[in-house]
Amino acid sequence: MKLPPFEVHRPSSLHNASRLLRDMGSEAVPINGGTELLLAMKLGLAQYAHLVDLKRIPELRGVRRVGSGLAVGAGMTHRELESSRSIAEAVAEMPRMLAEIANVRVRSVGTIGGNLCFADPHSDPATFLSAIEATLVLGDGSTSRRVPVDEFFLGAYETKLEPGELLVEVTVPAVPTGTGAAHVRMKVHERPTVTVAAKVMVERDTIVRARLVVGSVCGTPVLPQAIDKLIGAPRAAWSERVREVAALSAAAVAPVADAEGSSRYKQALVEVFVRRALDAALSNAQGMTR
Ligand SMILES: Cc1cc2nc3c(=O)[nH]c(=O)nc-3n(C[C@H](O)[C@H](O)[C@H](O)COP(=O)(O)OP(=O)(O)OC[C@H]3O[C@@H](n4cnc5c(N)ncnc54)[C@H](O)[C@@H]3O)c2cc1C
Repeated sequence: MKLPPFEVHRPSSLHNASRLLRDMGSEAVPINGGTELLLAMKLGLAQYAHLVDLKRIPELRGVRRVGSGLAVGAGMTHRELESSRSIAEAVAEMPRMLAEIANVRVRSVGTIGGNLCFADPHSDPATFLSAIEATLVLGDGSTSRRVPVDEFFLGAYETKLEPGELLVEVTVPAVPTGTGAAHVRMKVHERPTVTVAAKVMVERDTIVRARLVVGSVCGTPVLPQAIDKLIGAPRAAWSERVREVAALSAAAVAPVADAEGSSRYKQALVEVFVRRALDAALSNAQGMTR
């Protein structure tokens, strides 16, 4: 596997990076850690004459507090975020989710922005961040817009990014008291075969809010409607309702058959992993109720 020739540009601001990308059009592409892009180029799946390296752009770096939540720079590596104290305090499940990605070599150079923008269907952050209702800030140094994570993906390897537009940061809301989040997954090969994330809010032993995201089995993360069956459930009914939601969610998704398994096999996985995610989220919500 040999890389085709290309020129690397190293802009030091978001504005300049966007301008370069616009000026060079389809000949150019942004690159951060390169763990996806260089592999795709080596395999001959993509070819670009110009790579616009984002690593020197300060706007893409750091983790800032914004109200009770956080703004996470798109150029932060999985490894940097996995060990961030601010993230652990705001969203306890997030470092655990990040620590399960790939291996330490990939996590040390691969970025959260690169993961989301590549839009590989087998993604842990896409599933988890959709479940906790994170928002993406897309911009070009002059203008910016916000897109909820679950609306960012148009299909496998397709996003809402416009030419010259970059993912700048991920706005991560804190998981409040009485709310539990959970992310569970299984892998057969390198990438996850199934990822399921859930967020539930419990008040006086009753579920008042619930959100469920099934990822890695279809082209984009799926939000099964069946989760609404949990709303209003008193403690005594949780177990039965969780089983019902899991079965309905599995029936509602239409997984893509690939090297990870057949569509029916993945549906069976979805049922098991929805159950596990909801049980874990409910247990976390209980643990956090003061
Ligand atoms: C062996 C292996 C195992 C993996 N296992 C997992 C796993 O278990 N779970 C999981 O979720 N992921 C997994 N991944 C994916 C991994 O998380 C990504 O490879 C990594 O996060 C990509 O980040 P990067 O900075 O290297 O992206 P790059 O390769 O630099 O870029 C990827 C794409 O995003 C674009 N891009 C990058 N940054 C921006 C930006 N700020 N704005 C706009 N576009 C941008 C690039 O143009 C390119 O198209 C695995 C990858 C490998 C190679």
